[in-house]
Amino acid sequence: MATLRRIGIAGAGLSGLAAALAAARAGAQVEVFEAAARLAAPPASIDVVPNMLRDLAALGVAEACVRKGFAYTSMVCVDAAGRTQFEIPAPSLAGAACPAAMGMGYADLLATLHEACVAQGVRLHWGARVERSSTHAGQARLSGAAGLLWQGDLAIVAGAASMLQSEPPLGATSQRLPQRWDHVLVARPRGIDRLTWCVGTSGLKVLVVPTGVAQAGLAVLCDDTPGARPAATPAALRQRLQQMGGAPAAMAALVRDDATVISRPVQTGLLSGPWHRGAVLRIGASAHLLPPHFGQAAAQSIEDAAVLGSLLPTAPDRRRLLAQFHARRTARAAQVHAITTQAALWDLHPEPATDFPALAQQLAPIVEHAA
Ligand SMILES: Cc1cc2nc3c(=O)[nH]c(=O)nc-3n(C[C@H](O)[C@H](O)[C@H](O)COP(=O)(O)OP(=O)(O)OC[C@H]3O[C@@H](n4cnc5c(N)ncnc54)[C@H](O)[C@@H]3O)c2cc1C
Repeated sequence: MATLRRIGIAGAGLSGLAAALAAARAGAQVEVFEAAARLAAPPASIDVVPNMLRDLAALGVAEACVRKGFAYTSMVCVDAAGRTQFEIPAPSLAGAACPAAMGMGYADLLATLHEACVAQGVRLHWGARVERSSTHAGQARLSGAAGLLWQGDLAIVAGAASMLQSEPPLGATSQRLPQRWDHVLVARPRGIDRLTWCVGTSGLKVLVVPTGVAQAGLAVLCDDTPGARPAATPAALRQRLQQMGGAPAAMAALVRDDATVISRPVQTGLLSGPWHRGAVLRIGASAHLLPPHFGQAAAQSIEDAAVLGSLLPTAPDRRRLLAQFHARRTARAAQVHAITTQAALWDLHPEPATDFPALAQQLAPIVEHAA
């Protein structure tokens, strides 16, 4: 049974829901406060990479995810003519009952975590914007508009870097890179049966993530500097795919007029110093803003929750829990942050040293074992 009995979480995104699930499974009473009126359901894909699937298994939701996803055993990079440039095998880290990796709908992943939270007794408050996190007389506190006031043993800020007025920013390293990914769901392109990077003739890329037999997510990289910034509409996305030539051009027709295009600027940042202060811990995007390369932006958020879940049942008190969390998470997240940031910088400005397979090889031993 967890020593920290009452845990409050600001944010019901990936990291908040995963942490809520981890804490509830460890026996804590958990309340989640989410600013949005309902669970987000972005029409986009997410690649559930091997270390993320392993950590979802530790949270008890891997099987439910696998039922909704599309399994794969490697990722491949193809050039404009459809020739394989390189292939990176996906190691099996989640146990014999699970595939090595998979793609799934982002909304399905959030819904799976949400269902598991509800089944574990987590109390979710929608339309509850937290404005401040603090520590008073040794108690954690989350407060906000309309009388929102929660007090307990540990408060977790789980989400966007600047979500609370009381939180300092991520530090000098936090920045928006001059590129963005536009996400859209389409019918699965013929012949795409795994995570596939398609490099177009213009040097831009499209990442194809099959999410089911009939569906896939496209994530299209573009230059997001003022002046170059293209529109995020189905028609504009089709045009960009056509300009890329090769396999991406063939996918243009799959983008329907009624599709929703979600634009995500690429950001990078890492909290300098500990992720905790007093009785408040920051996880997910409020502690580490990672470019989504190698699936690590999401995977590192789930890893925060998995580590919390493994520490809570035996942590003798909050101080030692936070110290152990710090020891297991910060250096590792910093290593992954450096690798994914390098990948993002190389995307738009390739150098003679650009070598994505080498970056993947650097990453593999870091995330191979649970944190
Ligand atoms: C469409 C999409 C596709 C993606 N694809 C990938 C991918 O393929 N691979 C990958 O690695 N990463 C991907 N990512 C990024 C990855 O999901 C993020 O790194 C991850 O979501 C970070 O999770 P988070 O919960 O910390 O933050 P967020 O997802 O930003 O969630 C924060 C939550 O907090 C809520 N909130 C904000 N302010 C407040 C407040 N004041 N009070 C209460 N609640 C508040 C927000 O409404 C939100 O629900 C994708 C993200 C999106 C949206």
